[in-house]
Amino acid sequence: MRADEVIATHGNTDFDAFGAMLAARLLYPNAAICLSGSLNRNVREFHRLHADELRIVEAGRLELDRIRRLIIVETTNAARLGELEQVALDPSVEKVVFDHHGDSAPEWISAESAILSRDGALCTTLVGILAERELAVTPAEATAFALGIHEDTGSLTYPSTTQRDADALAWCLRHGALQDQVAHYLHLPLSEDERRLLDALLDSLEQIEVQGLEILLAAVAWPTYVEGISTLAHKLVDLTDCRALALLVEMDGRVFAVIRSRTPQLDASTAASAVGGGGHVQASSAILRTALPEAREQVERALAGAIRSPAVARDAMSRPVRSVSPEESVAHAMVVCQRYGQSGILVLEDDRLVGAVDREDLDRAVGHGLAHAPVRGIMTSRVPTCDEDTPLPEVHRLLAGSAEGRVAVLRDDRVAGVVTRSDLLRELGAAGTEEPAEAQSLAGELERLHRLSPVFEAVGAAGDPYPGIYLVGGTVRDILLGEQSFDVDVAVEGDAIELAETLASILGGRLRAHRKFGTAVICYGEGERVDVVTARTEFYAAPAALPAVEHATIREDLFRRDFTINAMAASLKADDFGRLVDPFEGRRDLEAGTIRVLHNLSFVDDPTRIFRAVRYESRYGFSMEEHTLRLARGCIEMGLVGDLSSARLRDELILLLSEPGAARSIARLGQLGADGAVHPHLAADGQAVALFERLAALNDEFGLEVPLWRLGLAAVARRLPPDEVYEWLRRLEVSARDGEQIAAAVTVGPRLVEALGRPADPAEVVALAEPYAPDAPLFALATEELEPLRTYFERLRSVRLEIGGADLAELGLRESPRVGEVLAELRRRKLNGQLDGRDSELAAARALIASA
Ligand code: ATP
Ligand code: MG
Repeated sequence: MRADEVIATHGNTDFDAFGAMLAARLLYPNAAICLSGSLNRNVREFHRLHADELRIVEAGRLELDRIRRLIIVETTNAARLGELEQVALDPSVEKVVFDHHGDSAPEWISAESAILSRDGALCTTLVGILAERELAVTPAEATAFALGIHEDTGSLTYPSTTQRDADALAWCLRHGALQDQVAHYLHLPLSEDERRLLDALLDSLEQIEVQGLEILLAAVAWPTYVEGISTLAHKLVDLTDCRALALLVEMDGRVFAVIRSRTPQLDASTAASAVGGGGHVQASSAILRTALPEAREQVERALAGAIRSPAVARDAMSRPVRSVSPEESVAHAMVVCQRYGQSGILVLEDDRLVGAVDREDLDRAVGHGLAHAPVRGIMTSRVPTCDEDTPLPEVHRLLAGSAEGRVAVLRDDRVAGVVTRSDLLRELGAAGTEEPAEAQSLAGELERLHRLSPVFEAVGAAGDPYPGIYLVGGTVRDILLGEQSFDVDVAVEGDAIELAETLASILGGRLRAHRKFGTAVICYGEGERVDVVTARTEFYAAPAALPAVEHATIREDLFRRDFTINAMAASLKADDFGRLVDPFEGRRDLEAGTIRVLHNLSFVDDPTRIFRAVRYESRYGFSMEEHTLRLARGCIEMGLVGDLSSARLRDELILLLSEPGAARSIARLGQLGADGAVHPHLAADGQAVALFERLAALNDEFGLEVPLWRLGLAAVARRLPPDEVYEWLRRLEVSARDGEQIAAAVTVGPRLVEALGRPADPAEVVALAEPYAPDAPLFALATEELEPLRTYFERLRSVRLEIGGADLAELGLRESPRVGEVLAELRRRKLNGQLDGRDSELAAARALIASA
């Protein structure tokens, strides 16, 4: 079998890898899914049941030297690809990798062609992309994705599981995943062989200690090959509740090793890599070609090398420690807390810890008139302490059990630092999502927008029941840029239609609600309009699909937007009017003229964003920041723009080509290779830019009012053969009328140039040009300055007869095809200058009728 594009994964394929392959095929519809190794037993049974529908081929049936692009999921290790390893390492084959562990791509693939996420399951990453692209999936596909998520997140229980995994799983269920099948394949009963091996493993379990970490180890030699060691590892972890497990089974002349880790202290993937295998932090495997005792030694060494020292108090603590002495006043302690925004403070005497007070107690003391009393009187002396090497989980435990919310870190009896809840959160990586300390306000800017004050007042009056109501996206960007006219987009944390109904009645406006999408438009005053939408998250195509009480927050809503400059919101609620929500530093980027995506998968999620980025670059003279630019190029090179022949692409192309900076945008698209990605024969090169500029200038000169985007599309599509133009425009879903004009420009335009290379009288010129006017003759004139066409636009095309059918009737010509013929002949003569004025037209008409 021949296939240009092939999707592959590692052997011993699990559901996450299997589901990811199915998802990747939705992104690469022409690609063949290829199995180059064995499938895990549950995956194999699932595959067997759905074989017809899943259309998967064996590597042996593929002509490997035909492969031009290899799409690899769930591994970055070429050696795990079996027969396809050679293809992966062949530099002439394009590679794309989707994986969810490890941060760096291997050397055999360019960094731009690797999509590396941090989701608990790779299926989550891919479902995120499918959701964003609104691609349809079958129940079998949704079931496979769900199984992948279940397997790789331990049914959402592994510590690495994120909310995205849970959201993606919910998406699968909403899109037809069959719960009974999920349960069935997830808990396939053990086979007879597996059960006996499990017993043997249990018998051989021993506890070893590797650098302070207790690891369960089982090593057995087995007479026959038993599949599904990883399932057994899973069962053993469940049975023993151990934190780390290493299984070694010698069978079939090799040793199969499986490592499981449920503690951040052991990185299972590092351990497996050290003996030639791979996997993730929590689960990995390897095959060793040595005898069991030797394999065991190697694995133990690998485990030792994969132990990470746990983070300790020293890594998280704040220093120097702010403190008060026991004799200082309550008022003083209060001032220190307020100044530094602390919720409490340690009390130290000669650098030694004597106690702590929290702000509530200070408050209360002040309330009782004790402002001048010494702190000693109200402090608590039972402050939890630890030393600098105390592991953070222990610190966490201490904090949880203390009322003060701070743990003092001691070194030789002196206080070396303090760990508070926010120190701990920061260290655990959660602080990145905290709001920057000082909130910025756009209240001033908003108040100057007199046009919008009725809206702001209405929101102020109606907003109470909603947690948040915001101006969002391009609206905030435009306000910050000082634009005068812009769309007014409002996002509400709650039911948009309900809010819009109230606003419309206050504003005395009309409401148009789209219940399916949970959006509404209010038209009021003289042509003013406000769009109201419900804040939404990426896994929900429309807010209407959200459970009523679970509306997304504005932050989630902003996170699914295209660029930082478009991902800001300004609150409209009365109590925090104007507060700027800018979690991605969009304001900074706006000031610096930078276009920046919010995350690495942004363009893959939605390639139309590449066109949007180019549009903003041209419109504002901004530039894509380097990393963003690399991601855009990567998405294009990976072929992930290719099948975007949708209405969404059309809309973005139309917007891009309609703006004043369109010529610059065309050049930029060419530079990025986005033209070829949309269609292999599109050419947004220097010629296209020149042609477009000339088309636009002529359009202007003759006052034709042809939409600029039509001219732009014709300019870049000029090399498409006729059948491809029609096919492409059909897929792009442009209207029939626009499509005909563009296609005529591209296909008839050059024929006009050729035909008008020979002398022709004015009537002939009109006969050639008119049926395809205005785009085709305009296109011809833009390619070559042909005098007859110029005359056509300047003069001929408006030449009309002064007489009509009614006049011919008066002359005795009854209604018949002859009427049209006579009128056509008269116009021909008039175009050629043989008629002048109504009388001469009537005379000629009379002669023509008589001669018939
Ligand atoms: P313009 O001035 O061209 O209308 P805009 O920013 O208002 O620019 P819209 O197309 O009206 O752009 O979209 C409104 C907002 O929706 C954007 O500001 C952005 O936050 C978000 N948005 C639009 N398209 C996308 C997309 N493809 N991906 C993510 N977010 C998008
Ligand atoms: Mg807009």
